[in-house]
Amino acid sequence: MILFNLRCGEDHTFEAWFRDGATYEHQSAVGEVVCPVCGVTQIEKAPMAPRLATNASRNERDVEMARQIRGAFAELRDHVEKSCDYVGADFAEEARKIHYGEEKRRNIYGEASSEEAKELVNEGVSFGRIPWSQRSDS
Ligand SMILES: [Zn+2]
Repeated sequence: MILFNLRCGEDHTFEAWFRDGATYEHQSAVGEVVCPVCGVTQIEKAPMAPRLATNASRNERDVEMARQIRGAFAELRDHVEKSCDYVGADFAEEARKIHYGEEKRRNIYGEASSEEAKELVNEGVSFGRIPWSQRSDS
């Protein structure tokens, strides 16, 4: 069996299976190959694997991957929100206090500017940065 991409005189494209190439030639010559959209029997072979179809499926994969990544971040965010104390813009200060033992060890999360983050790194304070997705994304 062989699969052909076909196009009718009205520019509809469709796929059809034939026993072999000769069978297609014969059937199209005697008008047995019919466009499923408009019923026209004027059929020709369309180029295989049109570029549009390839791009579309790659976009779908990209969309699916982006969706999974967003899902993973959303899970991470939920986990952080459940197990850590939110300290907002005081993150750098709080992280420092915990690091130097001024406050009891606990998990915190909040916002830090890149300047603050750099200082924390220099002081050897361990923390992680995660891309925070907006709730409206999910
Ligand atoms: Zn047609």
